[in-house]
Amino acid sequence: MKAAIVRDPVDGYVDIVEKTLRPLEYGEALVDVEYCGLCHTDLHVAAGDFGKVPGRVIGHEGVGRVSKLGAGVSSLKVGDRVSIAWFFGGCGHCEYCLTGRETLCRNVRNSGFTVDGAMAQQVIVDADYAVKVPDGLDPIEASSITCAGVTMYKALKVGNTKPGDWVSVVGAGGLGNLAIQYAKNVFNAHVVVVDGNDDKLAAAKDLGADVLINRHQGHVAEQIQEKVGGVNNAQVTAVNADAFTQAVDSLRPDGRLVAVALPQGNMELNIAKTVLDGIQVAGSLVGTRQDLAEAFQFGAEGKVHPIVHTRKLSEVNDIIDEMKAGKIVGREVVDMSL
Ligand SMILES: [Zn+2]
Ligand SMILES: [Zn+2]
Repeated sequence: MKAAIVRDPVDGYVDIVEKTLRPLEYGEALVDVEYCGLCHTDLHVAAGDFGKVPGRVIGHEGVGRVSKLGAGVSSLKVGDRVSIAWFFGGCGHCEYCLTGRETLCRNVRNSGFTVDGAMAQQVIVDADYAVKVPDGLDPIEASSITCAGVTMYKALKVGNTKPGDWVSVVGAGGLGNLAIQYAKNVFNAHVVVVDGNDDKLAAAKDLGADVLINRHQGHVAEQIQEKVGGVNNAQVTAVNADAFTQAVDSLRPDGRLVAVALPQGNMELNIAKTVLDGIQVAGSLVGTRQDLAEAFQFGAEGKVHPIVHTRKLSEVNDIIDEMKAGKIVGREVVDMSL
């Protein structure tokens, strides 16, 4: 089968190679991949930013059909459509795995980084961790919900978002456009979108954003305080440390900042505001299997539609260049049948 593997020596790109998979072990299943999206995290893996893994099959936004079961698998059957997410599996018995916080497991396995991922015609999964894709959900859209969708759905939960709340989405890119849709259509919140690009703001308006703010025009936090009285929670998806500091100042009392993007450096947190206004700051990382099942279901109900385009496996390095150049709107998804 064909697979996209991290180059040796590591240089930020992949090679498309023929690869033979090992036999299935107890509890594993073989998945024939239909679609796999390419994410910025894959670019970090290909560049060795998290540690060099030459030869590793990349990909953690995979969707495919189970084609073979290893011994002891009872949760899946041949033909089931499942996803392959960044959270590939936890240890299953630590404090975090046992209390609904499995993505924080210290022995987590990440697909396309610590184990071979889904940017390939086939992938081996740990059956207990493969989340089923519901009927009625477009598998191409499902690939994007597997990563960006569940990340924002979970982050809105971490923000304690309630109906009628004001939520700010800072950064209207691949994560931000899903944040707007989940916030509006699932959590019934009002949404302020902050971005520096007028095209992205226009797209955010089409998705139902209530208030748009161009971060190059005036003071972002002051405008949010003036227009809506501050937000109950701020979802920061912009890869820019200043955006975090502005987001703190845009919160209303008892507000919560949810950190999703991973810029280098520190954010400034005013101690007096934090104490006097009861501000909370929380990080949020992807989502659990249950979060993903819920995020998929809302997709199947038509409440969210990721922006996706299909490409060929042979084009992965071209997509990497396009992503680095900031040319991609939404997600490029490899169709393994092309
Ligand atoms: Zn991803
Ligand atoms: Zn664990």
